[in-house]
Amino acid sequence: MNLNLNTKLAEGYSSNSQIAKRLTECWVKENSYCPCCGETTLYNFENNKPVADFYCIKCNEEFELKSKKGKFSNLINDGAYATMIERLNSNKNPNFFFLTYSKTWTVENFFIIPKQFFTPEIIIKRKSLPDTARRAGWTGCNIDVSGIAEAGKVFIIKETQLINPKIVRDSFKKTLFLREKSAESRGWILDVLTCIDLIKKE
Ligand SMILES: [Zn+2]
Repeated sequence: MNLNLNTKLAEGYSSNSQIAKRLTECWVKENSYCPCCGETTLYNFENNKPVADFYCIKCNEEFELKSKKGKFSNLINDGAYATMIERLNSNKNPNFFFLTYSKTWTVENFFIIPKQFFTPEIIIKRKSLPDTARRAGWTGCNIDVSGIAEAGKVFIIKETQLINPKIVRDSFKKTLFLREKSAESRGWILDVLTCIDLIKKE
């Protein structure tokens, strides 16, 4: 796995956010594998499909990519609040890939938050855009990652170190049972997992 983002792909793009999106998406396509089944290639959805960025042709898992320069903060900017809540309630939300890269465009962390760890409680509504904005009244959301149990962060790369793919697959599969639970009992189990994390012992 090559940890350098291919900066040649930035040619022709001027906005920083577009460059970051292009470079990180291409990196995932060329370097990542499916954390669920191990399939070596992930495919892109057509641009601007609202649901997700990538899918696995073998096991049908879907992934949305979020990336950030520098350290990850606990609040991650996402799209429209109403759409996010609707997706969660209808179980149509994808898994999330999170990628952080350095100033010199090196991938430092790359991890998955499996979709069963998303609950409405971790989706924080942002202020609606003011009347003077082009999209007045539009309300976005943040994802509060601090509320997610450690079992819900499956690292493929941690501080530039590659994690053994078998460990990645096992960690991903370990919590799939949560998908079968009702929203209420899933919420309870996730809260219990978060409490267990607070006990810093085996
Ligand atoms: Zn797969």
